[in-house]
Amino acid sequence: MKKLTLLFVSLAVLFTGCNDTKKQETKQEPKAKARTYTLTMATTWGPTLSPLIDSAQNMARYAETMSNGRLKIRVDASNKHKSPLGILDMVKGGQYDMGHSASYYWKGKDIAALPFTSMPFGMTAPEQYAWFYEGGGLELMQKVYSKHGLLSFPGGSTGVQMGGWFKEEIKSLEDLQGLKMRIPGFAGEIMAKLGVQVTNIAPGELYTALDRNTIDALEWVGPSMDIGMGFHRIASYYYTGWHEPASEMQFLINKKTFDKLPKDLQEILVLTIRTAAYDMYIQNYDMNAKAWKKMKAEHPNIQVKTFPKEIMDEMKKANAELRAELGAKSPELKEILDHQDAYMKDVREWTEMSDYLYIKNNL
Ligand code: CA
Repeated sequence: MKKLTLLFVSLAVLFTGCNDTKKQETKQEPKAKARTYTLTMATTWGPTLSPLIDSAQNMARYAETMSNGRLKIRVDASNKHKSPLGILDMVKGGQYDMGHSASYYWKGKDIAALPFTSMPFGMTAPEQYAWFYEGGGLELMQKVYSKHGLLSFPGGSTGVQMGGWFKEEIKSLEDLQGLKMRIPGFAGEIMAKLGVQVTNIAPGELYTALDRNTIDALEWVGPSMDIGMGFHRIASYYYTGWHEPASEMQFLINKKTFDKLPKDLQEILVLTIRTAAYDMYIQNYDMNAKAWKKMKAEHPNIQVKTFPKEIMDEMKKANAELRAELGAKSPELKEILDHQDAYMKDVREWTEMSDYLYIKNNL
């Protein structure tokens, strides 16, 4: 009997519970039937290019789950839209609502976008994230992108990129004269000033070019992404980084699309972008450590080298000259570079007395 009473009580609770849920459902019905938004995102990356494509795909997944399916984002890899370097134009023109790429790919269209990826001898990833989110960097970035009708947010960092793979050791400036190297962008211009013959070769042909001595050296990213390219099998000298200390990817959003979204979905968009960017940074950090361990085990002949001081000094000189030339042409770029310099001066002092000395004193 006791058991039976208990059963009735339990059933009663259960039914009351059901009624409550039903009432709540009825109350929430207008919300549950709220409009679903489907956005499209074009990326620079191929469908399996980890960790870059992961940042875009993770972001889309988080947004859909957190919005309970109200915000869907269809991510297109470069094989879909066939325009890996046309992301800025496609999002600006409205063919896509969003993009995932890197700002320095369109420095030819807007030079002021260059410093939002990474600058030679610039900030490390934690320093740069602090600049973006606490130091006024994000506001400067929005100012640049608002001219294009876009919003832009950091989209994940590669951290320090390696200086590249060299078949011969670089002992002096002399060794750089006429050296054929694939190193794109601003860093390539610096290398050219030092006497390097800078060439541009499509990623898919890089391995063969290095193998057949069409080029003597190349830079790509770091162990996480270099390992798949196989450069470590044919070049023994792996130089430490100087030119892309914290290459940051970029999410772009068409401002008109963003403005049409309800407030909560806007917030979800911004927060999932921030989370996906952080995830890419740590995913890549982990991939680097594992890939380097594997490379070293399979090819113990690889030597990690740092360019001699006379080369580093010349690189810094060429960097300063190029920045001054560009700054004279674009006051907008100069404002951003000066802002980064001022921020780095303060933040670097902290990095030196914290991370740098901690590691140095514990080696
Ligand atoms: Ca690179």
